[in-house]
Amino acid sequence: MHSQDVVLRLEEKGIKPTANRILVYNALAENERPQSLSDLEELLVVMDKSSIFRVLALFEEADVVHTFTDGRGIIHYELCGSHGACSHDDGHVHFYCETCRQSFCLTEEQLPAVSLPEGYTQHSLSYVVKGECAKCRKRRGISE
Ligand SMILES: [Zn+2]
Ligand SMILES: [Zn+2]
Ligand SMILES: [Zn+2]
Repeated sequence: MHSQDVVLRLEEKGIKPTANRILVYNALAENERPQSLSDLEELLVVMDKSSIFRVLALFEEADVVHTFTDGRGIIHYELCGSHGACSHDDGHVHFYCETCRQSFCLTEEQLPAVSLPEGYTQHSLSYVVKGECAKCRKRRGISE
């Protein structure tokens, strides 16, 4: 993504576009799959882990990223689909491959609405399907 576009996207979310924030944003934009903190640490060799984490925490607070927990309980980050304020209707189901341990976005699959008992309030909703991705199945010679 062009850094001028990243600057614009961050400003739309009310975030000051510093060099580190642009780096983290780009690392997420260049990957179609959600990334964990250690994935990002590998991609962003110029930044240390705690700096990456600080940027991610800020991004999460400002709805620049959304998070979900994969099949192993590891938090993954992905960019919010909305420009500016997020109405949180961009959530979707994720698929976790137990063979290659990668997570995939099933953006066509919206999260189901869950009705809570009175007095309960929802903070987040995560829906992860566990299984084996097409690439891994193909590698093992399984076809349907
Ligand atoms: Zn969003
Ligand atoms: Zn796989
Ligand atoms: Zn996703």
